[in-house]
Amino acid sequence: MSEVSVTKDARGPEPATDKLVVLDNVNKHFGALHVLQDIDLTIARGEVVVVIGPSGSGKSTLCRTINRLETVDSGGITIDGKPLPQEGKELARLRADVGMVFQSFNLFAHKTVLENVTLGQTKVRKTDKQAAEQKARTLLDRVGVGNQADKYPAQLSGGQQQRVAIARALAMDPKVMLFDEPTSALDPEMINEVLEVMQQLAQEGMTMVVVTHEMGFARSAANRVVFMADGRIVEEATPDQFFSNPRSDRAKDFLSKIL
Ligand code: ADP
Ligand code: MG
Repeated sequence: MSEVSVTKDARGPEPATDKLVVLDNVNKHFGALHVLQDIDLTIARGEVVVVIGPSGSGKSTLCRTINRLETVDSGGITIDGKPLPQEGKELARLRADVGMVFQSFNLFAHKTVLENVTLGQTKVRKTDKQAAEQKARTLLDRVGVGNQADKYPAQLSGGQQQRVAIARALAMDPKVMLFDEPTSALDPEMINEVLEVMQQLAQEGMTMVVVTHEMGFARSAANRVVFMADGRIVEEATPDQFFSNPRSDRAKDFLSKIL
């Protein structure tokens, strides 16, 4: 990934912290439901964390709090040493630093693929149009959909759309990428083409938080598995430890159902 290495070489001073994402005792309720309970989670620069757990355990809410699509009731979240901004331009910049890929692709339906990957660059990063398009084409090539640039999202397969969504997020040069079940809405034959792009990103050193049920991906790409149940982090371990020797009954029960 040439652009990333260029960025790294030109980075200048050492980063202020290697703790890229820090959640410190985060709590959140939806009405009476205590959806995130005392969440402490630190993600190091370059780390790939896979979040797994039963449906309704709070995984999506956790992701959404990290780019402030959801507010929290208490506790602190910092990205690269800075607290999450509340609103306005600062928030837009934060969202650009934290790339998000959703289950349902969420591309702009009335924009072409190329426009989807160009828009954030020109609007938020203030990149000029020509440079933004050039970067978009490079990224689209990299995720294997360079020849789809002038089509509209509905003309693409789900796997292609999701790869465009990844390119769109990467176009903002995010510090961290969040993936919330990025392959759950895909037909089986398209899952691997998306996982391969994610695997490549992981190898290139992108910091990633990935909610997924793809245990093969967790085993091969994750530095750490975080297991959630009922709004809590119940267990954290390396993939090897977690899959071969889960400690909690909740994790054992969960794994027995999915493996
Ligand atoms: P997961 O992604 O692990 O399936 P979610 O974070 O989506 O879990 O949801 C956790 C719990 O919070 C679920 O019980 C869900 O119904 C509830 N929930 C999620 N979003 C909202 C919301 N906007 N309002 C009310 N309840 C919500
Ligand atoms: Mg979810």
